[in-house]
Amino acid sequence: MKKLFEVFRCALLPAVLSLLLLPAPGFGALGQDLGDGFFLLDPSVDPESSIVVVKLSPSEMRQVVYDEKIREITRTLYTKFKDDFDFLFFSPHTNQSLNEPSRWGGERNYVSGIGTTLGEFGALVCGSLERLKGFAVNMQGWRSVVGTILRHEIAHQYANYIVTASNLRNQSAGGHWGVSNAGGALGGFKYSRVLEENVGGVIGKTKYQGSLVPEFTGTWGDAGTSNFVPYSSIELYLMGLVSASELRTQNFVLDVYSGIEADPGSFLDTGAFTATGKISYTIDDIIARHGPRVPDPASSQKHFKALSIMLVDDSITPQYREMAQALKWFSGSINDTTYSNSFPEFTSYNFAQATQGLATLETGNIRASYHNRPTPVYAVAVRQAQGGSIRADKQYVEAGETVTITATPNSGQVLSSLSANIAGTTTQIPIGGAGSTRTFQMPADFVLIIPTFSSGEGPGPSPGPGPEPGPGDGGGGGCATGFGGLVLLAAAVVFLKKKS
Ligand SMILES: [Zn+2]
Repeated sequence: MKKLFEVFRCALLPAVLSLLLLPAPGFGALGQDLGDGFFLLDPSVDPESSIVVVKLSPSEMRQVVYDEKIREITRTLYTKFKDDFDFLFFSPHTNQSLNEPSRWGGERNYVSGIGTTLGEFGALVCGSLERLKGFAVNMQGWRSVVGTILRHEIAHQYANYIVTASNLRNQSAGGHWGVSNAGGALGGFKYSRVLEENVGGVIGKTKYQGSLVPEFTGTWGDAGTSNFVPYSSIELYLMGLVSASELRTQNFVLDVYSGIEADPGSFLDTGAFTATGKISYTIDDIIARHGPRVPDPASSQKHFKALSIMLVDDSITPQYREMAQALKWFSGSINDTTYSNSFPEFTSYNFAQATQGLATLETGNIRASYHNRPTPVYAVAVRQAQGGSIRADKQYVEAGETVTITATPNSGQVLSSLSANIAGTTTQIPIGGAGSTRTFQMPADFVLIIPTFSSGEGPGPSPGPGPEPGPGDGGGGGCATGFGGLVLLAAAVVFLKKKS
C-alpha cells in the first residue's frame, strides 16, 4: 500500500506541463486556465459548464489505459475541485490508437446486499475523502455518452456481482449478465423459448432462443454494449431504485444459463444458444445469498452528480461542443428527445429515461465546484467514532495552513487518541494541542482525521472499539484497501461504425 501511495505522490502532473500549453489549433475553446494543464471551456462551447479539459502529452495519453494514470489525474483534479461528485467520466481524445475498451473503476462502495465488498478502494488515494463512487473511461468520446456505453459503465458500480454468469464463449461474463434473462444495460435477454431439447441426442442439452422483445426478433448482446434497452428491473433493484417487494409483485426470476454453446452465425441471426444448465433465482434467493440491499429505495441516493473530463493531446481537434451537448442530453429530463431521430438503428436512453424517472443525474455547473485559488487545495475529512464527535475548522486547505480539530466527547467519555493520516495511507501527520482541541499543519496532501474516545479510566491495553463506519461514512482506520476492486471492461463497441 505504501509503495503505491508513494507512486501517487511522486507522479502528480508536473508543473512544467503548463509551460507546454502553447496555443494550438482547436484550443480557442479553452476558456479558463486552471493550471497543470487543466482548463474550463469557454461558455460559448460548454454553456452548461460540464467539462474539464486536461491536456496530456502523447506519452501521457498512452498511460490512460491504466487506472494508475487515471487516479493520478484525479489527484490533481481534487486539488482544484471540491469533492462534490459521485462519478467521474473520463474520455480520451487522440489520434493515437489506445486499443482499449471503455471501462469502469469502482473506487468506493458502501451499499451492502449487492454482492460486492464494502470499502474505499482507491477513492482516498484519488483525493476524494467522501463522495466519489467510481469513474468511467469512455473510449468513443461523445458517442459513448449518446450510445449505451456510459449508461452501461455506471451500472457497473452496482452490478453484476450477485450471480456468476457465462458469456457466449462459456467463460465468465465478468460483471455482466451474460447468458441470462437479466436483459438490461449490462447484457442478457428478457424473453426465452425452447427451440430444441436433447440437442444432438445429449440429454439435458437444450437449444434456446433469447430475445429482448416478445416477438423474438433480432438478437441480444451478452456484454450489453449492443443492448439499447433501459435499465432492467434487477439493475434498478441493485441501484436502489426498485424494492424487493416490487420484484416479488412482478414475479421476478433471474434465469442464469450454463454450459453454453453458441454458433456465431445463428446467434447473430436469431439470438439462439444451447445450454446444459439453468439456475433460477427469485429476489428472495438473491437476498438469502447477499443480504438485503441497504440502503433500500426508501433512503437510497436518487440524485447523482458527475464531472466529465476530456483528456486531449494535440493530435486531433476535440469535439467539445458535441460532448457538451451529449452531456446535456444524458443528464436531461425524461422528456428530452435530442437524439431520438439521430440513430434510427436503435433507441438511446438518457439517465432519467433509463431509470424510468426514478433517479436523476447532474452534469453541469461544475464551475461552482472549482476552488478558484492560485495554489493547490487539499481536503480534510473527519471520520466519526463512538463516544463523541469531532469537527475540523476547515474542509479545503492549502499546504502550510493550520487546521484545528475540536472534539466533543459524550458524557463520561474523553478523546483518548486522534490520528491525522495522509488519506489512503498509514502515514501520520504530527498533531499538537491537548484535551479536546488539537491542531496540525496541513501537508501538501489529503488528510483523514480519525478519533478514538474512551471512558477516561486510563489508556489500558485494549485496542478499543476503533472507528465505526456509519451510513454514508467512510470506513476509517483501514484506509485504502487496494486497487482494482471493481474494474470492468466493456466489450468492443459496435457503435463506432455508426459514425456520420
Ligand atoms: Zn461492462
